[in-house]
Amino acid sequence: VSVKELTKESLTRIAKIDGDVQAFLTITDDEALARAEQLDNQPLEGRGPLFGLPIGLKDNIVTKDVVTTCGSKMLEDFVPVYDATVVEKLNAAGMVTVGKLNMDEFAMGSTTERSAFKQTHNPWNLKHVPGGSSGGPAAAVAAGEVPFALGSDTGGSVRQPAAFCGVVGMKPTYGRVSRFGLVAFASSLDQIGPITRNVEDNALLLSAIAGVDPKDSSTSPNEVPDFKAALTGDVKGLKIGVPKEYLSDGVAEEVKNAVKEALNVLVSLGAEWEEVTLPHVKYASPTYYVISSSEASSNLSRFDGIRYGYRPEDAKNLEELYLRSRSEGFGDEVKKRILYGTYALSADHHKDLYVKAQKVRALIAQDFANLFEKYDVIIGPSSATTAYEMGQLINNPLTLYANDVLTVPINLAGVPAISVPCGFADGLPIGLQIIGKHFDEATVYRVAHAYE
Ligand code: GLN
Repeated sequence: VSVKELTKESLTRIAKIDGDVQAFLTITDDEALARAEQLDNQPLEGRGPLFGLPIGLKDNIVTKDVVTTCGSKMLEDFVPVYDATVVEKLNAAGMVTVGKLNMDEFAMGSTTERSAFKQTHNPWNLKHVPGGSSGGPAAAVAAGEVPFALGSDTGGSVRQPAAFCGVVGMKPTYGRVSRFGLVAFASSLDQIGPITRNVEDNALLLSAIAGVDPKDSSTSPNEVPDFKAALTGDVKGLKIGVPKEYLSDGVAEEVKNAVKEALNVLVSLGAEWEEVTLPHVKYASPTYYVISSSEASSNLSRFDGIRYGYRPEDAKNLEELYLRSRSEGFGDEVKKRILYGTYALSADHHKDLYVKAQKVRALIAQDFANLFEKYDVIIGPSSATTAYEMGQLINNPLTLYANDVLTVPINLAGVPAISVPCGFADGLPIGLQIIGKHFDEATVYRVAHAYE
């Protein structure tokens, strides 16, 4: 097939089904078709494994000349003048971007119900949420609209929606993928990650976007392995730690059973597992919310109505311009996080909140480091339940925050983790989370692929 035919197939599927799923915020059909035509004229030699394949991008990844909203009224009309580094890399790999995908505003949320524009539906059951904040990317891949998508994961936003939508989502090691051109939420936690239908596609996509970037000083100079070459199917002698905190009472029975069955599969392939403990993960959610909100309050100060984004027409003076730009441009969840963060960083409280959270973060990271002296990977569920019903938890933020407890420790520790489908309950997918050592995505992929 030609690239143009492939691109058309994706666009046709989007036209047919996105009215129900509502994954896309922007569909760049004209640009995609023009690019496809261009690619079809390129010589066959030198085409990589991702050449000509369609991809969708979470709308917090900036795209030159294509509106990038971050799911916020604040950036409703923001048209970047440059591409994110990952976008340049996708272009170099010959991929075709077909559009931008829905998300919770500024990536704050777990259901994609916090987008300023639309609510995305779970393709497995339209009455349920796709998870979040990368709900658009996960739903678009699950619905067959695109075979590839990029999301971002600050505290689970790639893995949890991947779990809810029955697709594969990887949060790489902090520093593996450039954040240049990713609109910042919490800079010490954010990573861009691939969402795909299977592990092999995921490995190929990570290989394409990973690597050191002079435009992001937090990227690692470590060499990027060929992740596809890691998919040997061999897990003999592999040592798996299963933290008891990941199979606690808070985790739904059917989710626990699915994880145990997955462990049985890995044992039948020659791996061994033992129950272990991560004693400080019980503090992970409050630690994450203090740190991520503190960083967000600082990062989001750039949206002042002057340099970027929404600005009211008739403000009478500078103060009113700031005030109204921010109070009218940001949604409630974002404002709440800015308030938390400002409080946690304030002179009177930063010692008790921000500084203490940093100490707990170090303890959580040490918990993982201790386990990785003995185990190759750590395994548990990606989420304690399957996808919520739409509207079920929107007014219950504390439950939503608490439900992040299985994903946020991984960002706090900076290690890589993948979510792969491991069964269904009531027609909704369950996700298995495989966590690896720093910069050892290869082992994570090997285990995920052997299991899959
Ligand atoms: N659910 C978490 C939050 O609301 C994680 C979000 C994310 O990873 N971007 O902050």
